[in-house]
Amino acid sequence: MTNLPAVSHLAIVAGGKGTRLGRFAEGLPKALVKIGGKPVLQHQLELAAAASVSGVTIFAGYWGGAIASFVGDGSRFGLSVEVRVEPEPLGTAGAVLQSLDVLPDNFFLVYGDVMLSVDLTDLAAYHLAREADFTAFAHPNDHPYDSDLLEVNRDGRVVALHPAPHHPDCYFGNVVNAALYVVRRDALRPLAAAAGKRDFVKDVMVGLVGQGSCVVAYRSTEYLKDMGTPERLQDVELDWWQGKIYPERLQTHRAIFLDRDGTLNVDRGHLRDPEQLELLPGVGPALRSFRQAGYRLVLLTNQPVIARGEATEADVELVHRRLEWELGKDGVYLDGIYVCPHHPDAGFPGERTDLKIVCDCRKPATGLVDRACRDLQIDRISSWMVGDHPRDIEMARRSGLRSVLLGRGRVGQQGQREADLIADDLSAAAEIILKHRETGAK
Ligand SMILES: [Zn+2]
Repeated sequence: MTNLPAVSHLAIVAGGKGTRLGRFAEGLPKALVKIGGKPVLQHQLELAAAASVSGVTIFAGYWGGAIASFVGDGSRFGLSVEVRVEPEPLGTAGAVLQSLDVLPDNFFLVYGDVMLSVDLTDLAAYHLAREADFTAFAHPNDHPYDSDLLEVNRDGRVVALHPAPHHPDCYFGNVVNAALYVVRRDALRPLAAAAGKRDFVKDVMVGLVGQGSCVVAYRSTEYLKDMGTPERLQDVELDWWQGKIYPERLQTHRAIFLDRDGTLNVDRGHLRDPEQLELLPGVGPALRSFRQAGYRLVLLTNQPVIARGEATEADVELVHRRLEWELGKDGVYLDGIYVCPHHPDAGFPGERTDLKIVCDCRKPATGLVDRACRDLQIDRISSWMVGDHPRDIEMARRSGLRSVLLGRGRVGQQGQREADLIADDLSAAAEIILKHRETGAK
């Protein structure tokens, strides 16, 4: 007998009228809009069936008839599917809250207008291992300013929610709540009493965090995009044809590894105050051009200020939230931020003795790159390190990356000989790398 996974049920919220899709939806619910020739709903059902989900409840709202006639009883997908129709619109969460008794102890929940390629088995394992009440799939995106953002502590607990839209000066980072959840049913019961329209973010998640439930973020770079507007629908369709909607563990990615101070932002010595962060000119567009060429973007930074006791991990994280926020205004995001908090020279007042060690991650050591390559499925041979310091170049050499040293002005700087290329700034580096790639491809 095989062991069934403990989360084997999926709830799909597909009640939205799809007005914003206009002619693209051709009178269909968003869940039945086709991507790569197949309705999104079918993609979702196939993904679920492959992850050993056996039962599905579709909250179909306005679209009960169309969805029921497409999906039937689900047997052709190897699933048992029930389509439920609420008599009046109840928002994204109202129908689910009214129907807790038809749902099992733990279940996945996804919106019907979301295209995804996420390993649901891993997601469920995380939820169960954390004994969470509610696990939210979260990722960075290129429009954080109009996305619902999560504030997550170092433990992965969601401590606050910030529903969109946001004031440009409120930097909440770029941990976007993405409409895929694992839910412990009984955690929702206290919220089920109130009748009427309810929203999953503003009512359920805010309510759960408010009542002290264990809400955790599952941060992942796996593919998940909503297709709620005609532009996003076109993006998703393009992604499909470019093979981007594909299981993460079967892919490898090329990456640009980036130093921080002097590469992305103005070098102010030991930057501790987010207000002091200032992006260098042209950084946003340069990163966007890398992204368009299919590179992942990964920040690698030495922060000995933490070991020296001059800043806490939280201070550094706040600087990075501001950085992600400013990049978000330029329509780009980082796939990962890797920080070395260590420093080898002990014996100063106020220092953190636990971090005053010779570590394997302070550049030019390769620990940060090694971790990023594992976490983000990065292929070193097609990846680059870009930085303004000789230790960035030395780290690239040790870890098998090609490198660009920024700052042509510093003639005779150590590292110039070792760097594969030298460029004035990140824009120039992007131009050279992308040109090399084009000519190399011919
Ligand atoms: Zn370190």
